[in-house]
Amino acid sequence: MDKPVVFAVDDEPSVLAAVTRDLRRHYGSDYNIMRAASGADAIEALRELRLANQAVALLLVDQRMPEMTGVELLREALGIFPDAKRVLLTAYADTDAAIRAINEVRLDHYLMKPWHPPEELLYPVLDDLLDDWQANFQPAFEGVRVIGHKWSADGHRVRDFLARNLIPYRWLDIESDAEAVELRSLAGAAEEPLPVVILPDGTSLSRPTIAGLAERIGLHTRAVSETYDLIVVGTGPAGLASAVYGASEGLRTLLIEREAPGGQAGTSSSIENYLGFPVGLSGADLARRAVAQARRFGAEILTPMEAVRLESRDGYHVVTLSDGSTVASQALIVATGVSYRLLDVPGADRLAGSGLFYGAAITEALGVKDQDVFVVGGGNSAGQAALYLARYAKSVTMLVRGPALAETMSQYLIERINEIENLSVRTGVAVSELHGEQSLEEISIREADSGAVSRVPGRAVFVFIGAAPRTEWLSGTLQLDPQGYILAGPDLERDRSKRLNGWLAQREPFWLETNIPGVFAAGDVRRRSTKRIASAVGEGAMAVQFVHQHLRGPAAPQRPAQAAGT
Ligand SMILES: Cc1cc2nc3c(=O)[nH]c(=O)nc-3n(C[C@H](O)[C@H](O)[C@H](O)COP(=O)(O)OP(=O)(O)OC[C@H]3O[C@@H](n4cnc5c(N)ncnc54)[C@H](O)[C@@H]3O)c2cc1C
Repeated sequence: MDKPVVFAVDDEPSVLAAVTRDLRRHYGSDYNIMRAASGADAIEALRELRLANQAVALLLVDQRMPEMTGVELLREALGIFPDAKRVLLTAYADTDAAIRAINEVRLDHYLMKPWHPPEELLYPVLDDLLDDWQANFQPAFEGVRVIGHKWSADGHRVRDFLARNLIPYRWLDIESDAEAVELRSLAGAAEEPLPVVILPDGTSLSRPTIAGLAERIGLHTRAVSETYDLIVVGTGPAGLASAVYGASEGLRTLLIEREAPGGQAGTSSSIENYLGFPVGLSGADLARRAVAQARRFGAEILTPMEAVRLESRDGYHVVTLSDGSTVASQALIVATGVSYRLLDVPGADRLAGSGLFYGAAITEALGVKDQDVFVVGGGNSAGQAALYLARYAKSVTMLVRGPALAETMSQYLIERINEIENLSVRTGVAVSELHGEQSLEEISIREADSGAVSRVPGRAVFVFIGAAPRTEWLSGTLQLDPQGYILAGPDLERDRSKRLNGWLAQREPFWLETNIPGVFAAGDVRRRSTKRIASAVGEGAMAVQFVHQHLRGPAAPQRPAQAAGT
């Protein structure tokens, strides 16, 4: 954090220069000495300092100034930096005004001009006040601040993006936090739509797009080069593992990520079965470590950026990105995993982000403090989320379609769930409708056996009802199964004579290779993959070995005579 500020204000240039010089001499090493020649300039500077999250320790202000007196200035400053120490510089005739100001603007001291010698008349007073200020000073939060409505979809979108990209931020609820109202108006955004995002440099954005926000917070959204040895699409465990092995083995590697590094695993509150972490670790922690590792080996990561098209020509794979630019490589690994399946009931579209959340248990946990919340789904991801939310919410109810958790959830999670008092499980039920105009208010729940529907109050529903690949951008290029999973290696479909349509290489496809030589699939997006972090990491690492073999040229496995059509 920058040094706290000591701010001097006087309209007389010679006096202002003298007081600033004396302040710098004694306090310059520990404080940033700033000055202004009028009350209006001072107020503007103080507002900017506040928006930029700087601390102001002391205001030393002349009483007699045209347009705005010292006391008037301190009165305004009180609203901007209420904890700053306030000292008035007065002439003898101003004594009455100074005494009145003690109560009026909580004046800490008034000093008679001239203050020379400062060692006797100025520094002892200010030393004392600054010691007092330091003793009570709590450094301000230095990251991004987001001001918005608690249950707004736009607010959720921004918060989720920041959280998943591991950008520290502070959330200020406009309805319950006076500071939120004040900061919004200081930022000149009182009439602007929410959410308002205040960046660490004090500038602000009103209802930003994710791409606009990403650029302003310094995420890397443009590729440095046009061509790479290896492009990896998706930065879940599979993509990150590919990048770590690829980059560490000398391949110029580019990673492309639509949302945030970590993929599904990044949204997990506690991963307990990943080898080498006996007490578990959070998905965010795993993502942070893996990203650091990939970057250390020189991998480049573009985020948020979506791959929207793939073309292969002349041995190069050209990926079109959502901003219209293209990047090309000799080898490509598709590691795009799966995305949450959406709840298909009335009200779900309208309330997504305003009480209905997909994943996002970590982002929203603090927001559901003391609320009754619901988790829909009976798999491990639902179990992990329910356990995490139970630490914050008043109560958590799991709504499970099947007759028992044991059919879909690991035993260690079931045992944990049974131990938690404010966490209950309802089996044989499904959500049939969500109610509320601006935000979720009630939930209709249908009993599978009787068909009876009950309507219960609820502010938040977290949905974990499985996932599906989003590979529409690859259809027509790669072989996909009816659900959209990518076929690779032994799964590739061949014609009657075992010929692989369109296959151009003089060898058989490698195990993770798709129907285009040099394009591989790894992790959850691959048909018949094991939906586990360790398997995704393993496939990511293995795919890189095949990439090396592909780049080395025509090599084993050789195409069998009949498949080669000879
Ligand atoms: C809440 C939760 C908890 C879990 N807990 C565990 C656990 O404890 N143990 C365990 O073993 N497994 C767990 N899993 C499963 C595990 O997370 C997945 O098997 C694993 O993340 C799959 O990794 P992946 O790299 O194949 O894909 P993903 O993790 O799905 O990552 C794919 C990435 O690709 C990106 N992407 C998709 N399309 C594009 C595109 N067109 N352009 C750019 N980027 C794109 C996505 O945004 C995503 O970041 C959990 C899953 C969830 C949801």
